[in-house]
Amino acid sequence: MTDSYNDNSNFIQKIIDKDIREGVYDRKIHTRFPPEPNGFLHIGHAKSIWLNYSLAINNDGIFNLRFDDTNPTKEEDEYIDAIIEDVKWLCPEWNGIVYYASNYFQTMYECALELINKGLAYVDDLTADEIRENRGTLTEPGKESPYRTRSIAENTNLFIGMKNGEFPDGKRVLRAKIDMSSPNLNMRDPVLYRILRATHHNTRDDWCIYPMYDYAHPLQDAIEEITHSICTLEFEDHRPLYEWVLNNIDTFQVQPPKQIEFAKLFLTKTMMGKRYLKQLVDEEFVDGWSDPRMPTISGYRRRGYTAESIRRFCDDIGVSKAQSVVDIQMLEHAVREDLKMTAPRTMAVLDPLKITITNYSEDELEYLDAENNPENPKMGIRKIPFGREIYIEREDFMEDPPKKYFRLFPGNEVRLRHAYFIKCNEVVKDVDGQIVELRCTYDPETKSGSGFNARKVKGTLHWVSATECMEAEVRLYDYMMEDEDFDKSNFTEKLNNESKVVVRNCKIEKNLVSSKPDDRYQFLRHGFFIVDQDSSEDKLVFNRIVSLKSSWK
Ligand code: ATP
Ligand code: MG
Repeated sequence: MTDSYNDNSNFIQKIIDKDIREGVYDRKIHTRFPPEPNGFLHIGHAKSIWLNYSLAINNDGIFNLRFDDTNPTKEEDEYIDAIIEDVKWLCPEWNGIVYYASNYFQTMYECALELINKGLAYVDDLTADEIRENRGTLTEPGKESPYRTRSIAENTNLFIGMKNGEFPDGKRVLRAKIDMSSPNLNMRDPVLYRILRATHHNTRDDWCIYPMYDYAHPLQDAIEEITHSICTLEFEDHRPLYEWVLNNIDTFQVQPPKQIEFAKLFLTKTMMGKRYLKQLVDEEFVDGWSDPRMPTISGYRRRGYTAESIRRFCDDIGVSKAQSVVDIQMLEHAVREDLKMTAPRTMAVLDPLKITITNYSEDELEYLDAENNPENPKMGIRKIPFGREIYIEREDFMEDPPKKYFRLFPGNEVRLRHAYFIKCNEVVKDVDGQIVELRCTYDPETKSGSGFNARKVKGTLHWVSATECMEAEVRLYDYMMEDEDFDKSNFTEKLNNESKVVVRNCKIEKNLVSSKPDDRYQFLRHGFFIVDQDSSEDKLVFNRIVSLKSSWK
């Protein structure tokens, strides 16, 4: 079992509870996630996937992944594969069956004939512009098309003609005959089918007419026997049309799926929306959809976020009808909470400064005990080499420190984590005055774990042995958006130029030598890191998943 499922308290669960109590459906609870394969999935989609999946599982129901692939011009196989991988990753116990809306084209076509036959749909010759002009406004009713009164026989023939390729693209459309003066614009004779010659990824050139979303979606749900069709708030005004379609098709009138809307997820400092993410990819602001800075599921995966932490985040933020923006630090908090128990700790020096311990013998090397995770003692200890030469972080030394600087400076003593106290005696500089080395002495009495507590030191530094270490490349990431003050029109101008900083020649413990891509560690004081797939035999590459601290409470 995956270890966390949505608790049963959200408002959609309450609707499901009621439906079960009242016996509304004589089939299993059935949800679906219906992405359009026109981009990679983002964290907002993760919320929808996890909501639909956990509602199904919690109610002994069924969850479908269905590609809403009714628009042949925007879809690509690359996206289909990526989406499947993401859903698998987020819901490892998902059955892996993939549904395609395009497999229902024939049924949808037959349903359209049924509507025509019932006098509920007609072929319109108006152009797209004319249809738009006649649509009216929120305060004015629309105008009926002069073609609205065509006979059933004529409509049937023309629609069959549309399907058979007798008319050029855009020449005619099929429209529902509902009400041109409805206060809901979606009900003013919406277009159901258009003519479009484009090769479809699944049906190739079988069809030159394609159904519109509002018509196709309820049919897809009904064909798959979905019970609860969960979507985001922008579809609320489309619900009457969803219901109209199902109400008017004989086979789907009984126990039709019901549409329920919830508020989309928005995150601070995060650009959401496939269109905008695609722009970042196309204009090469990032290295593809899975760049670790992207709020895509695959980006987060490469960044090192765990599926468990994303599921936990989705559970934490809950589901509601009220639109709001979630602080991104809640997501980071969920990641830290997960990793702090599971990621072994290690020491890594990102900006090395060499120290020679002058009173430590040149040919000696000892192995000290270091616990792998104080929060999880089961993770045991490792041995770390300590010798005459070590590296510390350059920023952990100041020649001329301000008050309250407790790290290393001339004459001061600090603790080396898992090792000894050292005291700085001498600063060695090169011809340019750059500090190249510190000369220190250590106190053998102060060995970590020996119980020594005769004197206190305030600073504790991480370090690695200079002779027994490995080099690594570390990639530090920051938010892509510099501040909150961006909108969709100007967001590329507000991108943070330092969202990716590559640090080469970092020094890491040799213990990491057998690390493989996807292994995660906590680098003491630096945060959580994952071994990136760019690593090679001679060089490990790490992504910083998240730093250790946040201001989120
Ligand atoms: P985008 O606006 O990013 O392009 P979309 O809604 O067009 O997203 P679809 O592939 O059509 O993307 O959506 C698949 C499902 O994901 C839909 O049910 C949609 O409502 C849901 N979804 C999309 N964005 C979010 C979000 N930010 N939060 C929650 N659910 C979302
Ligand atoms: Mg969409």
